[in-house]
Amino acid sequence: MRIATYSYNGRSHVGQVSADGQHVTAFDLPEAQARLGAQSLIEAQVAGRPLPALTGVPLALSAVRLQAPLPVPRRNVWCVGRNYHAHAKELATSVFKASNADPQAWPIVFTKVPECVVGPTDEVRLPGAAISDQIDYEAELAVVIGKGGKNITQADAMSHVYGYTIVNDVTARDVQMRHQQWDMGKSFDTFCPMGPWIVTADEMDGRKTRVRCWVNGELRQDGPTENMIFDIPTLIETISRGITLYPGDLIATGTPAGVGMGLNPPRYIASGDVIRVEIDGIGQIENRFV
Ligand code: MG
Repeated sequence: MRIATYSYNGRSHVGQVSADGQHVTAFDLPEAQARLGAQSLIEAQVAGRPLPALTGVPLALSAVRLQAPLPVPRRNVWCVGRNYHAHAKELATSVFKASNADPQAWPIVFTKVPECVVGPTDEVRLPGAAISDQIDYEAELAVVIGKGGKNITQADAMSHVYGYTIVNDVTARDVQMRHQQWDMGKSFDTFCPMGPWIVTADEMDGRKTRVRCWVNGELRQDGPTENMIFDIPTLIETISRGITLYPGDLIATGTPAGVGMGLNPPRYIASGDVIRVEIDGIGQIENRFV
């Protein structure tokens, strides 16, 4: 099942996307719940309750405005740094310089604030050169947690995955490095485009898919998720060590090689650039930076 959150007729809805990807049909949800996107559906399914009924006629996706599937995540988005071998190598002398030198040891984990999430076609606002002139993209697969838990083992981890979506972990590189701790440089307003929907885990396996990113039509990133240093079960086990994960939590699993900072010379995002991220089995998000 693909679950989309969207605006139509002046309010938010959550709906099921048709098998051909052309239409969406709304679930019968109060608007207060619909504004939180798929959250109440995830909680219902985890608790073994039935999903709300579908209501109304299918709408063409072209007639609605997609929002992030979880437009206001219930708390910060968990993120993983340095999680593809080639990407760790391309930033070895910059972002990861002061990090643990052994990439096999422990994952780097940071968070983005929930308020930086925007939709799959929304504009991303550059903060202005006085704040940062090194804005970069990071195409990533995001895991949506279903059943919560603490101290989840790798063996059990996949049973806690509700589904998957796409995020662009937009980053201000100068700010990321200046503060040593990454949340600030990753959490500027609009810096987490997400979507276009959640694909439930019965329909795809995030351990075996492919993440690609284009900047103004030029392919920059192309990596299979099999190349992760820390795979999805390891990430869930690690992040849930002593910390309870809840339904609707998001884990952005890291980005493949090919970010702007890794190019020689680096190429950062300029106003007017359009960044498209595509993941096999999910779809794509495309955001203009202004
Ligand atoms: Mg990232």
